[in-house]
Amino acid sequence: MARRMAVGNWKMNGLVQDLGEIDLLKSEHSAPGCGVLICPPATLIARMADHVAGSAIMVGGQDCHAAEAGAHTGDISALMLRDAGASHVILGHSERRADHGEDDATVQAKARAAQAVGLTAIVCVGETEAQRDAGETLDVISRQLDGSLTDDPALLIVAYEPVWAIGTGRTPTLEEIAQLHDAMRAHLGDRFGDKAADIPLLYGGSVKPGNAGEIFAVSNVDGALVGGASLKAADFGQIIAALDAA
Ligand code: PEP
Repeated sequence: MARRMAVGNWKMNGLVQDLGEIDLLKSEHSAPGCGVLICPPATLIARMADHVAGSAIMVGGQDCHAAEAGAHTGDISALMLRDAGASHVILGHSERRADHGEDDATVQAKARAAQAVGLTAIVCVGETEAQRDAGETLDVISRQLDGSLTDDPALLIVAYEPVWAIGTGRTPTLEEIAQLHDAMRAHLGDRFGDKAADIPLLYGGSVKPGNAGEIFAVSNVDGALVGGASLKAADFGQIIAALDAA
């Protein structure tokens, strides 16, 4: 698995007509020096996987159910994601935690299900603004890592996404990002030993072409999970280029 990753989270955006953005990315980044992954809505995964076949771009899901199969109307299993062409799945995004009441145990169960079928779990953690203001950030992140991760560090990416920075245009200072990412690496080291060094640690929250370079220069930042700026190839392409250059 690539240690440096640029991951696009399209959230609930994207129609068949938007697959043209992927063609642009493919032509302009045919041999990126980092892993490039797009997580479109579930309706586009199979089509996008066909679109990127033969290129360096990978496709992922934005969520999966913890069960292998069964009576779960509207849900999608990890095996279904893999079957559609996904190699990764985002889990525990703060919008899932807030909108669907997902707690750490739920995220852990989903991560276990994803890894069991060979998907890489991109586990998201991050504090709310109130937790940040109360000085609880490190405690929140430690608790979420303890509760959400499985015992498998091989098929794992961790994304630090301060909730208050998502879609707001606000970001922590570079010093704060460094402090958090160093702390996460140390936390993973306590849990996984030497294997922690290989786990990609992504920063997410208002990463744009204009700030990507400085964020990628921060200690223990191995890439980004990008929402809004991943929707247009022109913007996401600049973020990929910044990661390649870092
Ligand atoms: C996200 O939703 O994971 C995210 C980081 O969004 P944005 O880049 O738009 O802040």
